[in-house]
Amino acid sequence: MLENQVLLLLSHCNILTNTAVFQNNSTGNKPVEALDSSVSTKSQSKKATGSSNKKGKSPKVANESPKKQTVHTMGKIKSLEQRPLKKLYPSSGKSVVVVESVTKAKVIQGYLGDMYEVLPSYGHVRDLAGRSGSVRPDDDFSMVWEVPSAAWTHLKSIKVALGGAENLILASDPDREGEAIAWHIIEMLLQQDALHKDLTVARVVFHEITESSIKSALDAPREIDVNLVHAYLARRALDYLIGFNISPLLWRKLPGCQSAGRVQSAALALICDREMEIDEFKPQEYWTVEVEFNRKQGSSMNSKFFPSYLTHFDSKKLNQFSISSHTEAKAIEQEINSLEFKVIGSKRNKMRKNPPTPYITSTLQQDAANKLHFSAMYTMKLAQRLYEGVQLSDGKAAGLITYMRTDGLHVSDEAAKDIRSLVAERYGSNLASDGVRKYFKKVKNAQEAHEAIRPTDIQRLPSMLAGVLDEDSLKLYTLIWSRTMACQMEPATIDQIQVDIGNANESVVFRSTCSGVEFFGYQAVYKDVEAKAIRVDENEGNERGEVFKALSSLKAGDPLYLSLLELEQHHTLPPSRYSEGALVKKLEELGIGRPSTYAITMKVLQDRNYVTVKNRVLYPEFRGRMVSAFLSHHFSEVTDYSFTADMETELDNVSAGLTEWKGLLKDYWTRFSMYCNRVSNVHIHQVEKMLEKKFGDFLFSFLPDKSRTCPSCMEGTLIFKVSRFGSGYFIGCDQHPKCKYIAKMLDGDDDEEVASQDKTFEEPKALGLSPGSSEKILLKNGPYGFYLQLGEDRKGYLPKRASVSHIKDVGSITLEDALELLRYPVTLGNHPNDDHPVVLKLAKNGFSIRHRRTIAPVPKMGNVPFKLMETLGPKIRIKKRRQNPYMYREQRCSDIVTLHDTPLKEKEFSLLV
Ligand SMILES: [Zn+2]
Repeated sequence: MLENQVLLLLSHCNILTNTAVFQNNSTGNKPVEALDSSVSTKSQSKKATGSSNKKGKSPKVANESPKKQTVHTMGKIKSLEQRPLKKLYPSSGKSVVVVESVTKAKVIQGYLGDMYEVLPSYGHVRDLAGRSGSVRPDDDFSMVWEVPSAAWTHLKSIKVALGGAENLILASDPDREGEAIAWHIIEMLLQQDALHKDLTVARVVFHEITESSIKSALDAPREIDVNLVHAYLARRALDYLIGFNISPLLWRKLPGCQSAGRVQSAALALICDREMEIDEFKPQEYWTVEVEFNRKQGSSMNSKFFPSYLTHFDSKKLNQFSISSHTEAKAIEQEINSLEFKVIGSKRNKMRKNPPTPYITSTLQQDAANKLHFSAMYTMKLAQRLYEGVQLSDGKAAGLITYMRTDGLHVSDEAAKDIRSLVAERYGSNLASDGVRKYFKKVKNAQEAHEAIRPTDIQRLPSMLAGVLDEDSLKLYTLIWSRTMACQMEPATIDQIQVDIGNANESVVFRSTCSGVEFFGYQAVYKDVEAKAIRVDENEGNERGEVFKALSSLKAGDPLYLSLLELEQHHTLPPSRYSEGALVKKLEELGIGRPSTYAITMKVLQDRNYVTVKNRVLYPEFRGRMVSAFLSHHFSEVTDYSFTADMETELDNVSAGLTEWKGLLKDYWTRFSMYCNRVSNVHIHQVEKMLEKKFGDFLFSFLPDKSRTCPSCMEGTLIFKVSRFGSGYFIGCDQHPKCKYIAKMLDGDDDEEVASQDKTFEEPKALGLSPGSSEKILLKNGPYGFYLQLGEDRKGYLPKRASVSHIKDVGSITLEDALELLRYPVTLGNHPNDDHPVVLKLAKNGFSIRHRRTIAPVPKMGNVPFKLMETLGPKIRIKKRRQNPYMYREQRCSDIVTLHDTPLKEKEFSLLV
């Protein structure tokens, strides 16, 4: 909403000039759009600088403090040698610490005392504007940022706190996103001229929220890492460009479908490709022969049975499909029943099973999904709380785990030592690993190398947190605690026995195997999935132990008697669909996405109705499959796994300072825009044909005898069609419009709101004719919602349009309403100062007035109807009233309306004249 935000332009290699822009235009809480979509960055910067000079305010270029200069030039000078910053604890003067969240702020404030003021930024203070044109490839990839209204308040608190402060310490989360938050805050404070020249600006990172680690982090301050910021910018720009360019294309070719996003598209492709494999899967029949042997002839209650399976028949080794029919199986049964058996030999094997690696984001999400049935999103939410700090029973607050977005396996030496000594204390020294176990992973960028996820204090046992944490948080903490302990423990030893049993000439051989845990090792505290298969429940465990004992007592030549023979029919199973945990694992294996993106990827796919989750299994919806097929057909790069993985590597290279980010964007954009142009010329018929070819079996499976002849006209053929109106898909007759037969409607949009709107009218809806031009007035639906259009689409004609996406019941819009809405923008007159037109425009919530690059919202006029507003427009006068300078009065109506609850600059007053 225009009233609530200020739109800011950033050309971040040109921060000096932009600072001047902001001095001119930005005035604290007041909403101003500082960007004209038709004006390029450079000319805007020049103009703005010029006008500020005219007003006698020189741009703040001359009085650069050294500190500011490093901040300013960071976009340009990467190799600038970083001066060591002074230690920030204890503080010699007042320090302002900025973190993301209130919780984190409270906990840290408790550690640091009065010399520090810890404030939350509530996440990002600005973000890319969510509309087209926010990333501009033709303007050196400049980006338009938007500041949500709440962020102004948070920035103001920081600004106020900085008065008299010696240090500004930016301590947002220790990753690219956190680095970007810190950078945005500095940018915004610079633009508001809130960084005085004696202020030291420093970045510190807290990998864990505990008193000692926070104090030592304050003694290792650094500058903002420009490479991390660039990697963030490149990712944002890339994702934005793909989203905002694919979405309108998708909308036109596949109504109702939005772009899934860059990483999400690759994830969707994985899910849809698997579904294709399942569709195409042909089950194969095979048979198994399973028997039980007994040491004595005939069966008795006390005798031991050895379940065995057939491995050789007729002196041939069998594979899964060797016995493919009942007839074959029966023949084998007959033969076996006539034979006598003895033990051929046995083999014992000891296997060492190493403890698992410490948790990183992906493995934590997988394990929590498998063992606790948590979604990736939920796991991250709980982990964030554990990291940020929890009020403990002794009244103190502390972060319970290290930072949860990490792909580093490293555990600090000190922590590893503590873990080992607790293992020895609780489980005995024979379970503690010989020395400290170290885990490594090749990481490209040391700056991004984090520790693995572990408890901040291993002595804080899960049992001590019962009652402090809610049930699910405690479960997650327990999982993290156990895995961390396991990592410093001895391997488990597994004893396996294998006995081969055969007839006299050994042409028929069976095998019997059993395994048991000889030494639990780490499995005393942490049970991985494989361990679970070995250590079954108590009863079965005993039985298994007995089988193990019985098998190990067998010697070669011992006679054995067949007590049971079972022939079993099987069919091969299709590959299974992904669970969330399995998909995260796959994404990680392929190098798609990063610790920060797995959870959000899952969420987006579900929010867009591309994927549904049933019993923790991900099922692609037909809509998701269409989008994925469309993208892989026309934008192969977007859905290609290896391309997406390469792009992630490129982004890692940017963050390591090895790749220049704008060059990367340029390369990509050149190719991508070519695809876009090509696809915009693809006819919807081609899309229909492509989808029909790909999903034909699925689409026409409902037809009783697979005949696609139209049952209505008996001439046409049934084909897959995309509705030209609204967002539906159906199977209909190709003789349309001669034959209007529709065999089946396919679910186009599950969105109730859209569905209910679709019922009331067919779109585009002709509302009537424009009295002046006899042009049709149409109500249409587009990627950004419903809009009105004057005249039909035709070549060389740019129809006038007005968005009605904010109107809930678009079906009720009348011709009169439409004519009214289509009148805007209306020129109210020329500005007395520069003779440029002052224009009244429709805005999302009412009206706005625009003069050159400045847009000011028109306050709500109470009951004044739309029409009256316009006639009043030129007559609006601003009166600077003594009692309340922020009111203006409309003379004729004598309506007094509050313009703003915040001060306006003279400029805005004069603008409204
Ligand atoms: Zn027909």
